[in-house]
Amino acid sequence: GGTAEIIDGKAFAAGLRAQIAEKVAALKDAHGLTPGLAVVLVGEDPASQVYVRSKGKQTVEVGMNSYEHRLPETTSQDELMALIARLNADPSVHGILVQLPLPGGLDAEAVINAIDPAKDVDGFHILNVGRLGTGQKAMVPCTPLGCLMMLRDHLGSLSGLNAVVVGRSNIVGKPMAQLLLAESCTVTIAHSRTRDLAAVCRGADILVAAVGRPEMIPGDWIKPGATVIDVGINRIERDGRNVLVGDVDFASAVQVAGAITPVPGGVGPMTIACLLANTLTAACRAAGLPDPE
Ligand code: NDP
Repeated sequence: GGTAEIIDGKAFAAGLRAQIAEKVAALKDAHGLTPGLAVVLVGEDPASQVYVRSKGKQTVEVGMNSYEHRLPETTSQDELMALIARLNADPSVHGILVQLPLPGGLDAEAVINAIDPAKDVDGFHILNVGRLGTGQKAMVPCTPLGCLMMLRDHLGSLSGLNAVVVGRSNIVGKPMAQLLLAESCTVTIAHSRTRDLAAVCRGADILVAAVGRPEMIPGDWIKPGATVIDVGINRIERDGRNVLVGDVDFASAVQVAGAITPVPGGVGPMTIACLLANTLTAACRAAGLPDPE
């Protein structure tokens, strides 16, 4: 077998952030406008705290305003809805992100659908989901958007390629499939009930794994030369150490694939960069300016 090209998501994301920083500076100069992102964190989930800190830091680094709202675990649905209403009405806030998962007892769906769709930088509001599915201008979920950017960069046109997305969550799998369909791929969505997943995967020119099971996809499920995007972030113990691994068995996959994203350093960094890109887009739209390219 050969050795796949490693798609460097970390470098790609750094380049994207540099472009965003330039556009933010230009927006300030020309229109006196500074994009603002509000991140809402309820409770003490350790992984969520890490993500929120990282989002806030990168928001400031590209020259945007970051507003962090940390609420106690005991926050009621009404209190959370009242905060969303305030952020919706605040003209300095162009993007609103509610960090998921919410503590038990809170209705995440109701909270997400209370966000002004124009400020819904996660792209989870039902209106944005519907717009994406019907080919209308939408806010696109950050993780699949990052995956698509890397695929386009690597492959150019995706038209006519067989794409298999393993996983059908609303956050990753389904919007990923919609984006690939919009690129004229022939799309298969696989999940836990799929029969002969190995055979389905072997038909993929583009394989996107978004399952949440450490290294479940081995190299011999991959079509030689395929482009593999590994969304999975799984924390496991190996040789007495905590390590992060994807949903794809990298060691065997790298021998077969044409190109592959590593974990860490692949999809992960692109997700936050796309959040910043969506916030910039939301700010431009709010000001009646054309979308940034
Ligand atoms: P979910 O748990 O919501 O969805 C997992 C999907 O995988 C489901 O559709 C499930 O099928 C399917 N699945 C589970 N087991 C199997 C199996 N044995 N064979 C085939 N399909 C299976 O996860 P998410 O979509 O939220 O996340 C997926 C992974 O991506 C996780 O590791 C997560 O940490 C990571 N992630 C990474 C991000 C990043 O920035 N890089 C962002 C978001 C997530 P069914 O529907 O039938 O149950």
